[in-house]
Amino acid sequence: MISIPIPRLVIVSPCYNEEAILAYSARELTTLLERLIAAGKILPTSHVLYVNDGSRDRTWELIEELHRENHFIDGLCLAGNVGHQSAIMAGMMTARDFADAVVTIDADLQDDLGALEEMIDRYLEGYDIVYGVKVSRTADPLLKRTSALAFYRLQSAMGIRAIYNHADFRLMSRRALDALACYPERNLYLRGIIPQLGYASTTVDDVISERVAGESKYTLRKMLLLAVDGITSFTTRPISWIIGMGLLCLLISICMAVYVLVSYIEHLSVPGWASLMLSLWFIGSIVLLSLGVIGQYIGKIYIEIKQRPRYHIAQHLKHHD
Ligand code: UDP
Ligand code: MG
Repeated sequence: MISIPIPRLVIVSPCYNEEAILAYSARELTTLLERLIAAGKILPTSHVLYVNDGSRDRTWELIEELHRENHFIDGLCLAGNVGHQSAIMAGMMTARDFADAVVTIDADLQDDLGALEEMIDRYLEGYDIVYGVKVSRTADPLLKRTSALAFYRLQSAMGIRAIYNHADFRLMSRRALDALACYPERNLYLRGIIPQLGYASTTVDDVISERVAGESKYTLRKMLLLAVDGITSFTTRPISWIIGMGLLCLLISICMAVYVLVSYIEHLSVPGWASLMLSLWFIGSIVLLSLGVIGQYIGKIYIEIKQRPRYHIAQHLKHHD
């Protein structure tokens, strides 16, 4: 088995109007870091990186204060509100310059800190990506829980590879972060991209608890936008459905042609009905098919324009540099 050196861990935590929870969050994460350092699982230079996502309250002032008092706390202030996904990306891309491993966790610490420790254990076993998978969501409101589960099902029905019941609580090694840096797309949906990186991954159980203070910053609108990105950024399957619909209509129009001709010959129809019926179904199917064909090209343009990398190298055995 490969032995992995003890990592310098950076905990990236996005904050949007989190003044009510920051002091608690910093206290908990500091205690955790101290414990992990004492246990010899992470290097003493490990720390927390709070990313202020354009908060309108005193979040950044509090991060500045915490940074002055506590050598475990660093801060990154974004110029405006860019949203949860981009805020995490900013934190990870900043941390990758000096971290061996990065864990992303929401500032409200609704995720399980015990699971964070397990993530380090999995990292030390050689995994590059460790996903926190929610095992109990009883602390989440019913609507959020059921809609999230329905969404995960829809995603897998559409052939998108994503981890069931995993939000953005995860550990990534530096090389996994380097691979992630090759995805230049703007409409970020990290839960879809990260499984595509291909590096060895595993999961740990994450028991969700209630928010200790403050309110959820994920409005229904933000949640829906994320869900739309989660589907449309990874599949052009809905376009194929249009072609399917066009073919179905063409089939119906052939059946209609037989039916209409029989009615016409038997004098069962009023004048004009036969030609109308035939053109209606035929033209409908041609329009749908044409749309589908155009859609296929647009889909290809969409995939190309994202400029995603074709592969990531896991190992390169060579004798000479
Ligand atoms: N967040 C952010 N930018 C936003 C919205 C949320 O950085 O525009 C952060 C927020 O501060 C928190 C995390 O994303 O650390 C998750 O948000 P929240 O806990 O409100 O969502 P929930 O747990 O209710 O899904
Ligand atoms: Mg939360």
